[in-house]
Amino acid sequence: TTKQLIMSEKLAAIGEITAGVAHEINNPIAVMQGNLEVIRSVVGDRAEQARVEFQLLDEQIQRISQIVTKLLQFAKPEEFAGFIDRHAPGLAVADCLPLVQHLLARAAIEVQLENTAERLVLMNRTELQQVIVNLVVNAIHAMPDGGRLAIETRDSDRGERRGVEIVVSDSGVGMDPDVAAKVFDPFFTTKRQEGTGLGLSISQTLVTRQGGAISVTSHPGKGATFVVWLPEAE
Ligand code: ADP
Repeated sequence: TTKQLIMSEKLAAIGEITAGVAHEINNPIAVMQGNLEVIRSVVGDRAEQARVEFQLLDEQIQRISQIVTKLLQFAKPEEFAGFIDRHAPGLAVADCLPLVQHLLARAAIEVQLENTAERLVLMNRTELQQVIVNLVVNAIHAMPDGGRLAIETRDSDRGERRGVEIVVSDSGVGMDPDVAAKVFDPFFTTKRQEGTGLGLSISQTLVTRQGGAISVTSHPGKGATFVVWLPEAE
C-alpha cells in the first residue's frame, strides 16, 4: 500500500542519515578514548585519586560507542554481515549464558534450559549470539525483582519448511498489547535513556535475513515469550 511505501522510504532515509551521523560520531569518540589514555599515563600514580572519575569517563565513552555501533548496524546491516556457518541452537544458547551470567546472578533469576533441537541453523555466529543475548538481556530488564527465565530450543516445522525454534520466556512485567505491537519498531523503547530501542529491531533484521521470523506474546504482569524461528541448514 501507499502507506507502507511511504513508511519504508522514510525508514530508508532515516537509515541514511543515521549511518552518516554515526560515522561522524565515531571519530571524536576515538579521539576522546585516545586522550583519556594519554591523560591517565601522564598523571601516573595520581590517577588513583580520580579512579572513579576515570572509570566513569571510560564507561560513558564506551556506552556512546556501543550506541553508535548499534545505530550503524541498524542503518547498514549489510556492512556487518559476516561469515555464515551452521550452528546447533542449543550450543549457541550455552555460549551466550556466560556473557550474561553476572546480570542473572545480580537479579536473582533462576534459569531453566531445555534443548531438544537436533537440526542445525545457518547464521553468522556473532549475529546469532547477539539475537539471543538481546532477548535474554531484555528478559532480565523485565525482572528487576528476580524471576524465572526459560530458554528452550526445539525442532519445528512451519508449513513445508523445516526449522528450529529458540524460545525465550520470562516471568517479568510483561507488556500491554499496544507495547507488544511496537517492540520490533526501530527506536521504540520504554527504557528512557537506558534504551536505544534498536535491540529487537536489529534482531528482527538479522533473523529475517536468514529467512527466519521472530515474534512475541505477552500479557501485562504475566511475562513475555519471544520465539525465534530459523530454517534448518540444508
Ligand atoms: P531497548 O531494550 O533498548 O528498549 P529493544 O528493541 O530491545 O530496545 O526493546 C524494545 C522495548 O520492548 C523495550 O523497551 C521494552 O519496552 C519491550 N520489551 C522487550 N523485551 C521485553 C520483555 N522481555 N518484557 C517486557 N518488555 C519487553
